[in-house]
Amino acid sequence: MVSSLKSCEIRVDEPLSLHTSFKIGGRCDSFVIPESIDGIKSVLNFVNQNKLPLLVIGNGTNLLFPDDKFSGIVMQIGEPYFCDVDAIHESYLRVGAGISISRLLEVAVEKGLSGLEFMSGIPGTLGGAITMNAGAQRKRIGEVIERVKVINRKGEIYWIEHKEIGFGYRESRFKHSVPYSAGQEEFEIILSAELKLKRGDPCRIKARIQEIVKVRKSRLPLEFPSAGCVFKNPEDKIAGELIELASCKGLRIGDAQVSTLHANFIVNLEKATYKDVKALISEVQRKVYQKFKVSLDPELIIL
Ligand SMILES: Cc1cc2nc3c(=O)[nH]c(=O)nc-3n(C[C@H](O)[C@H](O)[C@H](O)COP(=O)(O)OP(=O)(O)OC[C@H]3O[C@@H](n4cnc5c(N)ncnc54)[C@H](O)[C@@H]3O)c2cc1C
Repeated sequence: MVSSLKSCEIRVDEPLSLHTSFKIGGRCDSFVIPESIDGIKSVLNFVNQNKLPLLVIGNGTNLLFPDDKFSGIVMQIGEPYFCDVDAIHESYLRVGAGISISRLLEVAVEKGLSGLEFMSGIPGTLGGAITMNAGAQRKRIGEVIERVKVINRKGEIYWIEHKEIGFGYRESRFKHSVPYSAGQEEFEIILSAELKLKRGDPCRIKARIQEIVKVRKSRLPLEFPSAGCVFKNPEDKIAGELIELASCKGLRIGDAQVSTLHANFIVNLEKATYKDVKALISEVQRKVYQKFKVSLDPELIIL
């Protein structure tokens, strides 16, 4: 029984649309929010014993869930848990994986630490950002990550050094175990990370963050639910430009629409479904390939 889980908030038959920025997704058998490492261990034991699939999420800002029921457990690592911040050196922070990027930026300002400003306006948690190697302005979070503390499927806890994380363009070793099924060897949940930043003037850091957020507000369709950029940029090209030149801006299937403001965003106008978004992704890929012979690779995680 899922109610036997220790140190977790548990919600049965929870709609996943409540936990994704796209506002799309069917229900899951159980949605659990561990409050401590014991909570995570208890979930791992439970899924291993009962051979259930497990999906770890942060704030669900880069995910597209099916409309059908997910028969398994979805575990969220997010605020208010796993959010501790420790200054371990004058420019090193140890931070819990559940902290939101916006809160992490506030901490950076409070402590006068620079080097994360490029993450301004990116929603989600630190754990999600590390998994996706999220970034903007030609910078990625992996550049400031020294090492990451994880727990594996057996409940073993250890650190992984930067060079072992496999950071690439929207890539890391953590991306490849979604969702986890019992017995699968490679599976690690991020618990915390050490970040190497630089000393900086708090006023200047804050001003830079505000400037970036302002620009993002004017360029991105933030008034609609979405999961950010849908496609990775192909080598030497910008996906949004190709999509626009292939006349896809405004293209609509059901309530899913290629944003009229930013062509690499698909927005949920109101009641878009998984099927609408998937069909629109395929149509954009088809049109871009037809015009440029370029295959667009999705950036968001489609389950
Ligand atoms: C409006 C908007 C703008 C965006 N702009 C950008 C942008 O500029 N740049 C950019 O890179 N992205 C952008 N994104 C995408 C998204 O915000 C990032 O990818 C973000 O880092 C995902 O974090 P999350 O916590 O929401 O992760 P989720 O979407 O919840 O999960 C993403 C992946 O991380 C895994 N994961 C999450 N937490 C953990 C953990 N603790 N341990 C192991 N695995 C974990 C999940 O299993 C999943 O595979 C944007 C999204 C939106 C909605």
